[in-house]
Amino acid sequence: MPSILIWYRNDLRLHDHEPLAEALKQNSQIVPVYCFDPRQFGKTAFGFPKTGKFRAQFLLESVANMRSSLQDLGSDLVVRIGKPEEVLPQLAKQSGAKALYFYREVASEELRVESAVNEALKSLEMEVKSFWGATLFHPEDLSFPMKQLPEVFTDFRKQVEAGSTVVPMFATPTKLPGLPNLDAGRIPTLEEFGLVIPEKDERAVMVFRGGERAGTARLQEYFWEKSLLKSYKETRNGMLGADYSSKFSPWLALGCLSPRYIVEQVKAYETQRIKNDSTYWLIFELLWRDYFRFILHKHGNKLFRSSGLRGVEIPWQQDWKRFELWRDGKTGFPLIDANMQELASTGFMSNRGRQNVASFLTKNLGIDWRMGAEWFESLLIDYDVASNWGNWNYSAGVGNDARGFRYFNILKQAQDYDPDGSYVQHWLPALADVPAKKVHEPWKLLAIEQQRFGVQLGVDYPHPVVDLAKSVQRNEDIYNGAYQNRRR
Ligand SMILES: Cc1cc2nc3c(=O)[nH]c(=O)nc-3n(C[C@H](O)[C@H](O)[C@H](O)COP(=O)(O)OP(=O)(O)OC[C@H]3O[C@@H](n4cnc5c(N)ncnc54)[C@H](O)[C@@H]3O)c2cc1C
Repeated sequence: MPSILIWYRNDLRLHDHEPLAEALKQNSQIVPVYCFDPRQFGKTAFGFPKTGKFRAQFLLESVANMRSSLQDLGSDLVVRIGKPEEVLPQLAKQSGAKALYFYREVASEELRVESAVNEALKSLEMEVKSFWGATLFHPEDLSFPMKQLPEVFTDFRKQVEAGSTVVPMFATPTKLPGLPNLDAGRIPTLEEFGLVIPEKDERAVMVFRGGERAGTARLQEYFWEKSLLKSYKETRNGMLGADYSSKFSPWLALGCLSPRYIVEQVKAYETQRIKNDSTYWLIFELLWRDYFRFILHKHGNKLFRSSGLRGVEIPWQQDWKRFELWRDGKTGFPLIDANMQELASTGFMSNRGRQNVASFLTKNLGIDWRMGAEWFESLLIDYDVASNWGNWNYSAGVGNDARGFRYFNILKQAQDYDPDGSYVQHWLPALADVPAKKVHEPWKLLAIEQQRFGVQLGVDYPHPVVDLAKSVQRNEDIYNGAYQNRRR
């Protein structure tokens, strides 16, 4: 019997999976495949591991869970280490495949791989069919053609809310045909990619385990067991603990959760529990995710260039010394340092934290935002190419909404979002005994206070790397100069 290969990438789930649903209609054997592409484990342009240890571990767990779910239904996941354009033709020959189905991606690296796969399969005369996925809305269900995608989020949101529809989910299979006679292969270890197993950090917001099972369990907990959705809008800007926001992003990034499933569950919650601003707001945030993916689809590599979507050439610095202070959480500004240490220790950071550290890197330190984006790419367990690079464009002021030089006032942010200092003290033990009203400005501590609170500046905790006000002013001048040059 001829078979259909399903090539899995960032769609590691059984529910709401169009390629699988389509293959099941064909009355063929089905061969689900995952390739660990060595290029994904190389280095970024600035030399960081492209898939760092946290991301890699979450990926391995997600692949393992995918395999066990497929096994439960009578199938299996064929796992190979190698380039898809080499692995897939080989498997096609071995299994007598007549077709390859997969979800297409939007960024150039992934598109290059897709082209290479297409090319490599040409001589086999197979059907190669790709599907749009990952977003809540399909391009064809938008009320406007992709070419007319609004450049500003609010316009996008309004148009989508006024006239676009979300298609219903694809049914989750309950049984699958068995694999043809093939070696399923083994899931590699982190060590094989030159990575170490990350140490468990008790201070992490929560334990993130990769896979559809853990992703749906998290939704069950956040919506139904703890009923946290009803207060999401008020709590979403928090930084400490599991409950302030959904934490769905890692599972969304690898496709372990489908956004349509989340929205379906929000609707059920609205019917069975409560419908309010918070239930709406979670969908609103998912629209940001859609928006960045569509923007990447529309603008391609512009998103990755230093000049960003706006095309403005700002003379960013590649000051490694200062970058490393930022990267290692040693800037002398507790809000920044705590967030960067959280990222380095766990592979996660809240949205509030991300906005602050990105603003600080670009608007206070004037450092090339792409260095920050690549550091995030390496570490974040929820790394998503469109959301990461899209958000960095915005934070650096080169995104589409650039409305002059805007920055986060770190001290005000600290007062608003960590008034009692519990977040910074959670991550910075050196500041554990500093009273709340002084903890965000340790450089102001007198010698006697340093002694009393057990922190010696320059020894236990660093002096500030810049003067906040002066550095912002300097970078604002640079930024405005760049915009003026552009207008000339
Ligand atoms: C500099 C920077 C880099 C970022 N990089 C990423 C990234 O690589 N991957 C990623 O998923 N998110 C990224 N974000 C967006 C956001 O910070 C995370 O989605 C969010 O913190 C994840 O936590 P959560 O799932 O609890 O979010 P919730 O507040 O519970 O939001 C629910 C979902 O909405 C989506 N969402 C929320 N905010 C955004 C946003 N600003 N942009 C896009 N989608 C959003 C996410 O899918 C999220 O899971 C970045 C933000 C900034 C400022």
